[in-house]
Amino acid sequence: MEEKGKENGVAAMAACYQGFDPAAYLQYNYTPPRADFERKDSIVPWKLACLHRAFTEGDVGGELLVDIGSGPTLYQVLSGCEVFNQVLLTDFLEVNRQELRRWLRDEEECNLDWTPYLQHVCKLEGRRPSAWTEKAAKLRQVITDILPIDVHRPQPLAPDALPSAGADCLVSCFCLESVSPDLAAFTRALGHIGRLLRTGGHLLLIGALGESYYFGGPGVKIPVVPLNEAQVCASLKESGFTLIRLEVYTLNQDMRVGVDDVTGVFFAKARKD
Ligand code: SAM
Repeated sequence: MEEKGKENGVAAMAACYQGFDPAAYLQYNYTPPRADFERKDSIVPWKLACLHRAFTEGDVGGELLVDIGSGPTLYQVLSGCEVFNQVLLTDFLEVNRQELRRWLRDEEECNLDWTPYLQHVCKLEGRRPSAWTEKAAKLRQVITDILPIDVHRPQPLAPDALPSAGADCLVSCFCLESVSPDLAAFTRALGHIGRLLRTGGHLLLIGALGESYYFGGPGVKIPVVPLNEAQVCASLKESGFTLIRLEVYTLNQDMRVGVDDVTGVFFAKARKD
């Protein structure tokens, strides 16, 4: 009975995602005011600064970086692509994997121009903004695949997708809380992705605080598990991670643009025990 309930909750979430619209999602979350590179208090520059710091502190490294639930976005691997020789992107939906493939092949019909993102991360790295073309080339070189994933399966990726020791680092942004029916499912999903990581490897987890829904497209309202900081810390501990740092961003009124009810964003850097 209990197993059936869990399966139903997960199936209901999968059904919500059938209406996900990558172009609309990018427009809602990855254009100003949420992605305003002139403003220090805009969400995207905050996320990019957290990722830049985490990847350049010297403790994160190895061969393989895996991004969990990439969606149609690339910002989350713009710093990591300089540290790892191989980067795998993953998503549940073919429409999102297609969007990423289009960028990888440098095709015309991408729904977002990632140039300002590449330029901004070059600046964070102390490079001239014009180095963005080199960063784009580097990213295209190190992303070796875009794979299907389901974080609700104990084995989220195909069995032969990763080396047996696991990845050296995972990054995951706004995925687990927005695909899980409740906190227990969120924690289980965290445990599942943890199995993809080698012991001692790092997890960089970004997610929404206090969010109960977001729009994945016009009229596509997707429920989210509303998390607080204590729950994030407890779930990480329960799933076999040691927290290194938790940072929190609180949304200003003008970042609340009517596409969700998020109140804050967390960034967690953790190590697998
Ligand atoms: N990482 C991107 C970002 O930072 O904007 C996208 C986050 S979006 C809120 C959630 C993503 O989770 C979507 O791309 C969706 O397709 C994906 N997703 C939905 N169900 C999933 C599942 N069961 N396992 C893994 N990813 C899933």
